Amino acid sequence: MCRNFLLITVLFLLSMPMVAQQVTRDAAPEKYKWDLSQIYQDKGEWRKAKESIENEIPVLASYKGHLGDSSQTFYQALRKFSDVDKELSRLLSYASMLYDENTKIAENLELLQEGETLATKYGMAVSYIRPEILSLDKAKIDQFFKEEPKLSEFKMFVDNIVRLKDHTLSQSEEKILAKTFGDMAQAPGSVFEIFVDGEMPFPEVTLSTGEKVKLSNSAYTYYRSLPNRQDRDLVFKEFWGAYSKFNLTLGTTLYSHIKTHICSKDLRKYDSCLESALSGSNIPTSVYKQLISDVHDNLPTLHRYLKLRQKMMGVDKLRYEDLYASIIPHVDLHYTADDAMHLTLEAVKPLGQDYVNILKSGFENRWVDFYPGEGKKSGAYSNGSVYDVHPYQLLNFNGNYEDVSTLAHESGHSMHSFLSNKKQPYVTSDYSIFVAEVASTLNESLLLDYMLKNTKDDNVKLFILGSALDDLRLTLFRQTLFAEFELKTHELAEKGEPLSGKTFSEIYLNLLKTYYGHDQGICEINDLYSNEWAYIPHFYYNFYVYQYATSKVASSYLSKKILEEASMKKPVTTTRDAYINMLSSGSSKYPIDLLKDAGVDMTTSAPFKAAMEQMNRIMDQIEAILNKQQQKK
Ligand SMILES: [Zn+2]
Repeated sequence: MCRNFLLITVLFLLSMPMVAQQVTRDAAPEKYKWDLSQIYQDKGEWRKAKESIENEIPVLASYKGHLGDSSQTFYQALRKFSDVDKELSRLLSYASMLYDENTKIAENLELLQEGETLATKYGMAVSYIRPEILSLDKAKIDQFFKEEPKLSEFKMFVDNIVRLKDHTLSQSEEKILAKTFGDMAQAPGSVFEIFVDGEMPFPEVTLSTGEKVKLSNSAYTYYRSLPNRQDRDLVFKEFWGAYSKFNLTLGTTLYSHIKTHICSKDLRKYDSCLESALSGSNIPTSVYKQLISDVHDNLPTLHRYLKLRQKMMGVDKLRYEDLYASIIPHVDLHYTADDAMHLTLEAVKPLGQDYVNILKSGFENRWVDFYPGEGKKSGAYSNGSVYDVHPYQLLNFNGNYEDVSTLAHESGHSMHSFLSNKKQPYVTSDYSIFVAEVASTLNESLLLDYMLKNTKDDNVKLFILGSALDDLRLTLFRQTLFAEFELKTHELAEKGEPLSGKTFSEIYLNLLKTYYGHDQGICEINDLYSNEWAYIPHFYYNFYVYQYATSKVASSYLSKKILEEASMKKPVTTTRDAYINMLSSGSSKYPIDLLKDAGVDMTTSAPFKAAMEQMNRIMDQIEAILNKQQQKK
């Protein structure tokens, strides 16, 4: 159960040029740093807590073979399990956040390692719980729940194990699988990562400025957005040319990875790899397929975006290598941490005064560690795993607009954790990724709305609209293209067809051409870019990326309704209340049902339509400003 932090994927922000750091963590006043002493006073207290968890491990293990003894024993075992798990989460959170403050401090790394060793020991001690619950008769479990009302807290936890009974093997088979397959299944992804991030040879290119640049995966994410078109062409050609040389090798690693999914779905008796992957969060496969068909139905909206981009860039023919260059002149926006907090609090007002007050007191109570510093972990995250204290946020705040948006995003996660931790018992306080990114991206939408309503400068508006538009293009269309590629390749492999790098490239090129309107002359795709699949690390996950798109779709739908209701002459709070209820529900229901209760039915096209309306509205606004500027000239 022990929880992981929600790492914001800085997927879209990576290509932004870094702004000179304004304030560093060391020099910042205490109020801009998180206060870990609210978790444990000091390392001495941490060690005491660790000792007491260690003492509980034999107690937990002693229930092995006794879960079916009586409803009393069943309850006591689950109670103990949940309580110890909660304390372990607290212990690990403290150690990992202390480490993240400055990863160069060896003493903190050692503390984290101590915690992780304990977590492994704990994991082994409780590994019997799942198989033992599965071995119990369903009638017996039902009887236990009738006899012991206190067990109701664990209803969802037990249901979630029992519902997968038909797809779980015998205890000894599961043990063999975990020991062999578990590790080996990681091999293709590890080989891929080591190769493309380390040993793969990349060429050096000379830019129009005379600057010589060595390409690499990270260099590419920066240089693909260069303003000079010839430079971009060069970067694309050389970068994808490098990948094309290893087409067969990387095809073999990806095919091996897909084969592990086939093997797992066969052993666990699923009809498809997709069903197998989605069963963990109990998401119907129809949601995945709905997303793909919605995207195809709405390609004209993507094409409108591409035509707008072509017009704004002033090129006669748009090409795939033009998609990352900025279309909006850069405006130098700078915000302090206080500005960012103020803007976030103003933006989330439509969620109600309670939401605002809790977040405000969170900012005052040092939930957030704002500034970058020597050795500090990069990126941003919200950690809601310290159940009895409060959520924490790590940021690397440099003062640009993206940093304000990141604070709003992470505050969405933090508030979700805060409300779920407050309303739910520990065992159902955590939430799945499928709903998590709804809470964060909804706040981004609210921030966008607030900024547009409160900005007079058209250039600033254009900048904000432009980044929101690119975000929608990347999240909804690019991620769904990835999702469709994953589905297509798995389906072919399921039919027993061999897949080589050549086949992967053919499938990928076809998708690119369809999505970007190559045949309609909307955006030209060079055949060389068919190698892009070989560079995407997410293809070594397991049907994961579609959730970026579905979350954005759900949050577009909800934010639109919440804003509409708030702006009525007589404001209504129906959607807002249902949404806050979802934030307070943790994992007490399955994600699809949680969203349904909040008014979003992800098995229909209605939410996607709302996202498309948002995208079209943004383009309307951009065009209106451009027309106005044109007339002034
Ligand atoms: Zn996030």
